[in-house]
Amino acid sequence: QQTNEELAERSVLLEEKNTEIQKKSEDLELTTRYKSEFLANMSHELRTPLNSILLLSRLLSENIDHNMSEEQIEFAKVIQSSGNGLLGLIDEILDLSKIEAGKMELELIDISTKEITDGMKAMFTEVAKQKGIEFKIDDENAPLVIRTDKMRLEQILKNLLSNALKFTSEGSVTLIVKKHATDEKRVLFSVKDTGIGIPREKQPLVFEAFQQADGSTKRKYGGTGLGLSISRELAKLLRGEIGLSSVVDEGSEFTLNIPVIGSMLLQPEEFEDRQ
Ligand code: ADP
Repeated sequence: QQTNEELAERSVLLEEKNTEIQKKSEDLELTTRYKSEFLANMSHELRTPLNSILLLSRLLSENIDHNMSEEQIEFAKVIQSSGNGLLGLIDEILDLSKIEAGKMELELIDISTKEITDGMKAMFTEVAKQKGIEFKIDDENAPLVIRTDKMRLEQILKNLLSNALKFTSEGSVTLIVKKHATDEKRVLFSVKDTGIGIPREKQPLVFEAFQQADGSTKRKYGGTGLGLSISRELAKLLRGEIGLSSVVDEGSEFTLNIPVIGSMLLQPEEFEDRQ
């Protein structure tokens, strides 16, 4: 049996442990904040000189004075495209740190899924065609009206679609929009490809920052390994989630499941009424 003294001693110990844990969690919070602030500042500082590089390399590649050789123009174009890659990476790092710091703000608006799919069609049809891939839209109960952050939703879909096109060399890429089978308050977007697929054991990895399914594909396909981790974080912000099913050499399907509106589904007529 424990004496009162022993109990009192334990309770003091527990209290000490508690304070220690609390201190650690405060430290961690502070470190995360410093990291995010550092990344945000650094991104800003990197962007300013990069903008000059981009602007001047563009002017050079346009060869306005007609005094540059083919090779020099080619070099200017390489500077420009590497600079654009770097700018993309900086934007991705900034996005991730903003989300981590809880500073990514959402702007919710009512929007028809048709507007979203039309935008994706305009953006990706030509790219697909150039690779000899068919780009299909399947919006079976179109148009649904959802209340969400349009830019962030588009950012997720752009990530998923550009991956699908990148890792597919023949066949098709399809963007599907449908109501959730069992939960009418949710809508499903799905990006399906007939590409290289992702091995089962690598599937959870691809959502981690800087991770790629196969290290050796980095040289072949490029990329930073940040797109899917940003997409997953953005999906969480939209109160949704991203799922993946994939078979090697057959293709992959990424699904995004988000609430139609915070909580309710508008019919297209109601949407018209609100305009
Ligand atoms: P990135 O495409 O810049 O490498 P992502 O985070 O978008 O970064 O993707 C991480 C990795 O997941 C990719 O490098 C690739 O290995 C794998 N992946 C993503 N989408 C697909 C897809 N549709 N088909 C095959 N592999 C994919």
